[in-house]
Amino acid sequence: MTVTLDLSHRPSAAADPVSTPMSTRTSLVGLTLAEMREAVIALGVEPKKAKMRAQQIWRWVYFFGARDFDVMTDIGKDLRALLETRHSLDRPEVIERLVSADGTRKWLIRSAPGVEFETVFIPDVARSGALCVSSQVGCTLTCTFCHTGTQKLVRNLTAAEIVAQVMIARDDLDEWPSTTDGRALTNIVFMGMGEPLYNLDEVAKAIDLISDGEGISIGRRRITVSTSGVVPKLEELGTKTGAMLAISLHATNDELRDVLVPLNKKYPLEELMAGIRAYPGLNNAKRVTFEYVMLKGVNDSPAEARALVKLLSGIPAKVNLIPFNPWPGTAYECSDWKTIHAFADIVNRAGYSAPIRTPRGRDILAACGQLRSESVKTRASVAMKERLAMAASEEV
Ligand code: SAH
Ligand code: SF4
Repeated sequence: MTVTLDLSHRPSAAADPVSTPMSTRTSLVGLTLAEMREAVIALGVEPKKAKMRAQQIWRWVYFFGARDFDVMTDIGKDLRALLETRHSLDRPEVIERLVSADGTRKWLIRSAPGVEFETVFIPDVARSGALCVSSQVGCTLTCTFCHTGTQKLVRNLTAAEIVAQVMIARDDLDEWPSTTDGRALTNIVFMGMGEPLYNLDEVAKAIDLISDGEGISIGRRRITVSTSGVVPKLEELGTKTGAMLAISLHATNDELRDVLVPLNKKYPLEELMAGIRAYPGLNNAKRVTFEYVMLKGVNDSPAEARALVKLLSGIPAKVNLIPFNPWPGTAYECSDWKTIHAFADIVNRAGYSAPIRTPRGRDILAACGQLRSESVKTRASVAMKERLAMAASEEV
């Protein structure tokens, strides 16, 4: 197939493509179809033909997971060569990759200096596996039991950076092309670093890309967005994304939730529960997940289990009991297994499914925010050693 290149559409500021340094090439990974169309128009493809070209490239990227323009056999050689001069199919850099004995995989990804974020793949027993993606680097909220909460917000991740997390996991799991049969990565959960509802536009854009049936094809019902309770954004989340909702509840009264999830002071339980009841499309097939971290002696009594049941009444809900994952410096401890099971029994008996999330990947610091913090710490200690060495040599 030949490509007609109408060079009059090339922006006048554009340099001779042949001389464009490889390092200034921008990646097409994470771009929407409209953005890819703009990119090919900028390369000189006639606007009339640009949509079709963009669609072809888009499919190569998101269905086949292409890493190289050469495989795009339905695109003429000329355009492929031109694409190569200005663009790449690079993913952001994986600066650390860890595989746990239990199969959990974790990647620490860097997309720009200081922009490091984590993605964790958790294989499940029931032929499904969830990828836990980050939506921000750090978090502005300060939930007292959460390690990410101790890290300042660096910035929101872009839709491209969110989609790239899925691409990297798919690469590593060797799951291209994007066929649905027997895949390990079946679900996406926005439960990594950051508060997704403080970055809703990019999260929604990423969900549009991830769920597109012609590409990565992970349906909206298999995508769950977890929030600490940004009530005014709940409806928008539902209408824009159609994603499943998870709420980080962790306490059944305002007094305690104000401490564990300080955002509760802004949006207390009554408002939160009203916002959840109004979430678009809730029904028994589309339940809200309530996450409840089990903190020893803090929120794990039978009375609190009963209070939880009362709070949920009338809401199509399931409960996820999360054993607290300790991190260096935390004052909290995980509840005993007996206590967690007693709590789960009360919730179960009231008719709610309340699985206890088995701790995964503890050997690879799978709790959110831990790996990035280790990396920052390591670099800080290397920098410190270098400074000391320099100071020592200056003294001599
Ligand atoms: N900011 C969003 C999503 C990221 S946190 C939110 O708060 O919902 C994903 C889930 O992990 C939340 O339910 C959070 O409360 C929980 N979590 C955070 N730190 C944890 C820890 N150390 N142990 C267990 N669960 C934790
Ligand atoms: Fe942020 Fe969620 Fe951690 Fe709270 S639990 S600090 S909202 S990442």
